[in-house]
Amino acid sequence: MSTPDYRAMIPGLVYRNQAFINGRHVPAASGRTFDCVSPIDGRVLTQVAECDAEDVNRAVAAARAAFEKGGWSACHPQKRKKVLTRFAELILKHRDELALLETLDMGKPIASSAGGDIPASAQAIQWYGEAADKQYDEVAPYRPDSVALITREPIGVVAAVVPWNYPLMMASWKLGPALAAGNSIILKPAEQSPLTALRIAELAAEAGVPDGVLNVLPGFGATAGQALGRHMDVDMIAFTGSTQVGKYFLRYSGESNMKHVSLETGGKSPNIVFADAGDLDHVARTSADGIFYNSGQSCNAPTRILVEDSIREEFMALVAKHARPWAPSDPLDPKTAMGAVVDRDQMNRVLSYIDAGKAEGARLAAGGHQALSDTGGSYIAPTVFEAVTNNMKIAQEEIFGPVVVAISFKDEAEAIRIANDSIYGLQANIWTRDVSRVHRVARQLRAGTVVVNNVWGSDISHPFGGYKQSGIGRDKSLHAMDKYQQVKNTYIQL
Ligand code: NAD
Repeated sequence: MSTPDYRAMIPGLVYRNQAFINGRHVPAASGRTFDCVSPIDGRVLTQVAECDAEDVNRAVAAARAAFEKGGWSACHPQKRKKVLTRFAELILKHRDELALLETLDMGKPIASSAGGDIPASAQAIQWYGEAADKQYDEVAPYRPDSVALITREPIGVVAAVVPWNYPLMMASWKLGPALAAGNSIILKPAEQSPLTALRIAELAAEAGVPDGVLNVLPGFGATAGQALGRHMDVDMIAFTGSTQVGKYFLRYSGESNMKHVSLETGGKSPNIVFADAGDLDHVARTSADGIFYNSGQSCNAPTRILVEDSIREEFMALVAKHARPWAPSDPLDPKTAMGAVVDRDQMNRVLSYIDAGKAEGARLAAGGHQALSDTGGSYIAPTVFEAVTNNMKIAQEEIFGPVVVAISFKDEAEAIRIANDSIYGLQANIWTRDVSRVHRVARQLRAGTVVVNNVWGSDISHPFGGYKQSGIGRDKSLHAMDKYQQVKNTYIQL
């Protein structure tokens, strides 16, 4: 497939910048808008509707009415399969447009948007579409005097509140299973990256998702997000974002209608490199890929290297070497590996962590500064800290930028202890050739995903989610369907 000239496409791009409620684009009830700024060069792309509590009321009413009407919630599951398959096809058909919107909006390289995020989003929608008509219900164990039917039903009105790091992909991990199960949805994209969500709302309608079943509300967390979290007629919040905001949603639920809350939150994933890891150059290169992909803005990025003492020097020299090719450049160039960070606030936040690392006495082995400042965009050089101890701020807190910290350990027990010494438990990685050690260590790591001899490895068919303060519940795989469904027991006396 030839690569389009993405820059040449920009003048013809249409930005959908209004809310999508009940099947059509509408301005915010207040008429207010906010600037949608590209981190590539600081340019304002468009003004987006700034939704608040009043828009939330309108969207929830539309979602509830659609749910009660039953055109989606009570239709034959084969219909949902057909529509979701068509929706996925339309996302793929508009791949280049969506990839360009994603890259302009949040600064990731166009090769990642077009080759990763957009196809992966379509795949998630399609995968759950295919699952829609393959779920069986249950009958309880036989009794002579009764029958108990255990059936699944959609929960009702689901609000999906998502972050900016993989805007369409995080949304589609919610939309796929929630729609397949028959729910009505209100999607609130992050204020930094609303454009693809607003565009796919139209594609969903074109595919046959009925009016009111998928609504998209751009706006800020403290207003639109909070109003969804506190709404008395929202049945569930499906959240991906920071641990801090995840906790707010638990509070909103407790202070309103006790809505279900699923949380995919932060991470500080250990990447444990044992001396018997094998080809250290390969391990270092793969680890650097995992850290710097998406400018380090991946919840499961292997940002805490734990390296065995005896190979520390050799391994860390290799990591610094493999960090260099990740120097940021133009996100619209198809050859670019690392682009911008999402905005100036995030850039300044990451730079303040770099300052904290220096102040705490960690040794800078690569990067440590802003890059491409003459572009007007938000870029940071790939940064490697050595001589870190696990109690330092840069080892404990999620930086969410292209920064890795390295801590050394003496033996297996110490590696496990340091790996688990974190409030997070999203993912952990182990590098070793010893199969017994793989099992022994994996069992003791408190993380929702353990990856062995790689840093990625996740597929839509694998459950993804966290232990501890990395979340509650799972996205992806058939396990994700559970949280979007109620389980009903119908007991019949014979
Ligand atoms: P964030 O928590 O600041 O924002 C996420 C969403 O919550 C946005 O839509 C935002 O508008 C909304 N929000 C913010 N404040 C709110 C409030 N007071 N009330 C209600 N809603 C509010 O997170 P972010 O900075 O957009 O994303 C980065 C975070 O997301 C990182 O912590 C990262 O680890 C996490 N993340 C986790 C996963 C996962 O699967 N576990 C995946 C991707 C990202």
